[in-house]
Amino acid sequence: MAEHKIQLDDQHISCQPDESILNALLREKVDISYGCQQGVCQSCMMRSLDSPPPSESQNGLTDQLKEQNYFLACLCYPQQTMRIGRRDHTDFITHGTVSTKKNLNSETILLTLDIDDPLNYYAGQFVNLQREDGLIRSYSIANNSIHSKQLTFHIRRLPGGQFSEWAHQELKLGDRIALSEPQGLCYYQADNLEQPLLLIGTGSGLAPLAGIISEALHQGHTGDISLYHGSRDETGLYWVEEMQELTNKHTNFHYTPCISKGEPPRHIAAGRANDVAFKALTDLKGYRIYLCGHPDMVNSSKRQAFMNGASLSDIYADAFHVVSNSSE
Ligand SMILES: Cc1cc2nc3c(=O)[nH]c(=O)nc-3n(C[C@H](O)[C@H](O)[C@H](O)COP(=O)(O)OP(=O)(O)OC[C@H]3O[C@@H](n4cnc5c(N)ncnc54)[C@H](O)[C@@H]3O)c2cc1C
Repeated sequence: MAEHKIQLDDQHISCQPDESILNALLREKVDISYGCQQGVCQSCMMRSLDSPPPSESQNGLTDQLKEQNYFLACLCYPQQTMRIGRRDHTDFITHGTVSTKKNLNSETILLTLDIDDPLNYYAGQFVNLQREDGLIRSYSIANNSIHSKQLTFHIRRLPGGQFSEWAHQELKLGDRIALSEPQGLCYYQADNLEQPLLLIGTGSGLAPLAGIISEALHQGHTGDISLYHGSRDETGLYWVEEMQELTNKHTNFHYTPCISKGEPPRHIAAGRANDVAFKALTDLKGYRIYLCGHPDMVNSSKRQAFMNGASLSDIYADAFHVVSNSSE
């Protein structure tokens, strides 16, 4: 790869070999929105104004956006000189007002936003939340799609994390946040109510799974729904009683909280959630699988689910990409 010039407005920037456009812009301190830096949240979408961008920088975009030469700056390694433009932020389609903020455990809050305009979404999808100063992060919707004017989120505090620390420490009732269109392919569809579902999540990866479970039960799903929620220790789990209550109400719902360190109490399984799940469910033929949380867990679970007989087209995953090194 060679060095290429990129032009944004009247600024000319050199993009080094093996450097993404996003990194080149950040190096030059250009004020640009971005989030996961992994091609998932689409916050850094830009438009090529002179030529089609490299095809791999358009991964996950709709055909319409591709045709209009939109691309993700974090995935774009220029192969020639490019003139690029910012995307206007019409994708932040509504605002929400904080109406509930409470602790789920010592590191996770539940946040409810009352939305100005109802959002159409599938349970399990995520939205990008934007702070007033432009900082954007993705968070999964934790309730089912009936609550289109009131969305809940589970936000885990990452020490030193810009958005999560702010949400925990400074965000207060009545504050306003902008929301993007709902995104993501890890969602529930009521197209086969008898299909058994396996859901594995770590930490705040419970958020989209809680939305999916609530939607499935609301839609009258009759197949078994097995949830494995994992954390390092008991203090990292939450909604244990609520999930146990749900098992009393729905005979097809099964819940296994797991901790990977130390001796667990009787109602909690010992081990990582994915290990416990795959040991218990060795034949996953015909299952639909949902995996949410740390990217390492999601990637190894995809492989294991496939090895246990699940079809790749039935495995849905949301990896919560963050810079942090913690594994659960
Ligand atoms: C599709 C999707 C859905 C998601 N859903 C959820 C959800 O439901 N709940 C949830 O809690 N999270 C979710 N996330 C993760 C979320 O988007 C954020 O990434 C997360 O909250 C951290 O953001 P932050 O701004 O607080 O941390 P950041 O500021 O982005 O930093 C992340 C971590 O890296 C460390 N760090 C930052 N910069 C450096 C550096 N230069 N050197 C070393 N360490 C550094 C920080 O200390 C912190 O621990 C989701 C992510 C995706 C992609």
